Parts: sequence; C-alpha cells; structure tokens
Amino acid sequence: MNYDCNMLADLLFPHITGTVAELEEKYPERKLKDGARVTRFAPSPTGYLHIGGLFGALVDVLTAKATNGISYLRIEDTDKKREIDDGVSAIINGFDSFGIEFDEGVTGFNREKGDYGPYTQSKRSEIYQTVAKELVKKGLAYPCFCTAEELSAIREEQEKGDALIWGYFGKWAKCRDLSFEEIEKNIKAGKPYVLRFRSDGQEDKRIFFDDIIRGKIEMPENIIDEVLLKSDGIPTYHFAHACDDHFMRTTHVIRGEEWISSVPKHIALFKACGFRVPKYAHTPQVMKIDEDDGTKRKLSKRKDPEAAVSYFAEEGFPKESLIEYLLTLLNSNFEDWRRANPREDAFSFPFNLKKMSPSGCLFDLVKLNDVSKNTVSVMDADTVYGYIADWSKKYDEDFFKVFTADPKRSRDIVNIDRESPKPRKDIAKWSEVKEYFAYMFEEYYTPSFELPENIANEDAKAILQKYAEVYDENDDKDVWFSKIKDLCEPLGFTPNVKEYKKNPELFKGHVGDVSTVIRLAVTGRKNTPDLCSIMKLLGKDTVKSRIDNIIV
Ligand code: GLU
Repeated sequence: MNYDCNMLADLLFPHITGTVAELEEKYPERKLKDGARVTRFAPSPTGYLHIGGLFGALVDVLTAKATNGISYLRIEDTDKKREIDDGVSAIINGFDSFGIEFDEGVTGFNREKGDYGPYTQSKRSEIYQTVAKELVKKGLAYPCFCTAEELSAIREEQEKGDALIWGYFGKWAKCRDLSFEEIEKNIKAGKPYVLRFRSDGQEDKRIFFDDIIRGKIEMPENIIDEVLLKSDGIPTYHFAHACDDHFMRTTHVIRGEEWISSVPKHIALFKACGFRVPKYAHTPQVMKIDEDDGTKRKLSKRKDPEAAVSYFAEEGFPKESLIEYLLTLLNSNFEDWRRANPREDAFSFPFNLKKMSPSGCLFDLVKLNDVSKNTVSVMDADTVYGYIADWSKKYDEDFFKVFTADPKRSRDIVNIDRESPKPRKDIAKWSEVKEYFAYMFEEYYTPSFELPENIANEDAKAILQKYAEVYDENDDKDVWFSKIKDLCEPLGFTPNVKEYKKNPELFKGHVGDVSTVIRLAVTGRKNTPDLCSIMKLLGKDTVKSRIDNIIV
C-alpha cells in the first residue's frame, strides 16, 4: 500500500469515532474463578429449534455450570435470507419448555440480561465497524469493488485451472492493491463494496489447534481475503464471530462440526484483530437410522418430526426425560452417575467436554421412550398430575376437562404403583395417558371381554358370578387377594401357580387366570397397574355394573 491507512479508514468509516481500546474497557475480562468457562449458544433465528440446537445448548449450559462459569444466548440474525418473523420466540420457547436456562443474553423479543450486550448481532453494527475501521488503519482490511459477475468469472477461471483453493486471494484479489485515488474515486461514484481481510497466510504453511472434543487438528493456513463486512455493512459470520466472542469474553466456542473447516480463517482473524483465540470444541451432528434403508443420516426437518424440539412438547415428553436422554448421548459416564445419584437434578451432572465422542450421536426415539418411562416412574403423583393437566390443557382440551374434573381422584389414579421403591415404568409421555387410563373414566371406557384362549367363557362367567357375591369395596389388598384365591378351587382353578406348572392337566388354570378374568371385566384390559387400587378408585357401583354387564 502506498497510502496512509488512516486516511482510508476515515474515508470508509467517517461516522465511527470510537476505538477498540474503548470497547476493551467497556467489555472487560470477566472476573471469574480459575477454570471457569464462558460459553455461548448462538443460533440464527430460522423459526424453530432443532433437536441439535437443544443438544448444543445443553453442552454450553452444562459446561458453564460444571465450572462455575457463564453461559449466554446470542442471536445471530445477520443473514436476513434465513430469518423468519418471530424466529427468536420459537427458540426461546423451545429452551423454556425444556428447562434450559442461560445466565445471560437474549431472553425474549427485545429483552436481554447481562453486561456484555447487545446480544443480538443486528444491534452490534457499531462494534463491528469500530473493529473494521481499526483493521483498515492497520492495513489489514481493504474495500473490494468486484461485482458479482467479476467474482463468478474468477471462480470459473479457478475451476478451469488447477488451483487447489478457490476464492479471493493472490493474483485473483484485484482490489487488494488499488491505490487510494482509485478507491476514493469508486467511493465517490457510489460503487458498492465489501470490506475484505488482507490475509498474510501462505499456501504452504499449516496451522495446528487443539479441539477439546477431537484433539489436535492440523490444517492449511488461511490464505483467502475473506469478506468481513458485506456491502450493506453487515458482518459475515466469520467477522462477527471474532468480534462477539472476544467482546463477550467467551472462553470456549462450542459449535457444530460444520465449522471446523473455518477455524484457520477464524484464528487468522482473531490474531489480526489482536484478540486472544478462544478454545474450540466442535460437537458431532445428531443422527438417526433411516427407517427405510437403515443408513445413518442427519436428522432432517422435512422427514423427521422429531428434528424440531416442539415435537417433544407436543407429544408430552417431560422436559426431564429429553434432557436425561440427551445426557446419555453426551457423556458416556452419565448413566453410571445417574445410578449413583438417582434423584439428583440432571443439571448438576459434572459434564465434561473431553468425554464427548467426536462421532455423530444417534438419536433413537425408542431409547428416549425407555429413558422417559424411568424418569416418569420416579416422579411423585402431584408432579405427574400437574404435568398431565398442563399438557392436556394445551393439547387435548377434552381430556383436560375430564382429567381435572376431580383432581384428587386423578392424582390417586396416577399414583397407582407410584411413590414406592419399585414404581411401575409405564408412562413415557403425557399424550399416552388418556388411552392408558381410559377405563378409569366413563367418557373413554370401552368394554371389551376378549378372553385368553385358555379360559372358557362359562368358566369366566362362573368366576365373575362368584366374585360378585364376595366383592367388598372396603377390602384391603390382602383380603382382596385372598378372596380371589378362595374362588379358585371350587371352580377348578388352583391358587398355587407352581402347582399348576407342575400338573397343568389337573386344573382349568391358576389364580392369575382368575384375576385376569376380573381385570378384563372391570377394565377391558388384560394388563393394568394394580387391580385392587383400580377397583377402589372406580368405586363399588362402577365395578358392580361392569361385572353385571358381562354376567347377564
Ligand atoms: N449462527 C451459527 C449457526 O447457527 C452459529 C455457529 C456458532 O455457534 O458459532 O450455525
């Protein structure tokens, strides 16, 4: 350059009077304990929260929590093409419904908390321009007036030749050496321009960095004169990343693996700006096994409803279950920790980035279901009642009315086989409850009396007749069961299952078959939670009338 860079800086940014030194003062190093990590989740508001986003955010929040650090939410809305109205709310609601809480950052539409904001990129243009102006002053950035046609011509030529790298660099970087007069003439003529980084990278040099999840990575140095500010003054992802993560004092940039190839660019930019390079951790993609061809592939918004976090809220998976399941994917030692700490809040798990596997993690709805059954089984009845009421209020109004008509009774229903050392693991999601407990509500009960093959219809009727004579709604569990046992022998069944197994030919069946008949008559199901509790909650009249309906 044969011109004074300060003159160029003033020509390009006459309105910028602040300095990087002032920004350094305004956003000082955070006063945190040694080893505390500052992480951020930085979504672009595309209108929905992807399960991979929840996964990433969980890593950020847990990393900060485990080190007494800070996690924050930054909205990256510089790509207007990808943005949709109210995309921020979709993201925030998604986090809220799954209990993800950041310490700082955007908390809602035009709302944020923390001293390192604004946390929305579209509100930070002065910061980007201040840093850009300083780069121009240092001769590290220049305006490029190449048109879209000129850029595609460069690309075409590069594609024809044997260049290993495509982009704006070396002999292709025509605007790199414009004189001050040429630049001034173009600016005065109102020619649009972008601001480019003046890279000093060399083609044969390599850089090394430590990725916390993937270990040492070696890559060619960046040689491209990357765009920093687009023609409308809006920063590119690369430049905004350097400015924001520096001035928000991020210590650990945890982001998707698709960004690994950009790290050389980012390291060059941090260095050019005089910023300390943060630590990087590139997380694996969330994958699934394709139902059709059995291959492992990325979750797709179009094909997989479970790609959107809203799906889990709609299905009624409790937030604890999804978090619990994601944690099993995140750290292989989570399950051991859970066994040792069965009732501990998942967010107190000592998460460790180093224990994350670099390969794609498989998201499996079947596994989520199992995890959820465990999680729900240890919840107390009041919690479960509250969750079902909240879920149904939003997604199944009819059931909401029925379920909440007698709260004490419904609470007792969901408490059957719960709040015990060995609770029943039956419910995975709230949307299953209506069907699961349909027989408890006249509105949903459909009688059915399909006997198992080994029980004859006349025997079943005889069982019910005899049972109706002895049934007393006040019997406790022991008396209730002894009455069923007492029915067995006179009707040709045995109360002793072992005896039956030894000599099946001697009996029509055993006590299990007898109770199956009663269960079927009362609930229409072969399998239910504890029948004695069910009958008590149904009450004498309902039990009697359901049995009578079959006997007649
Ligand atoms: N806004 C970027 C994205 O949505 C974030 C990448 C990052 O975390 O740095 O992909």
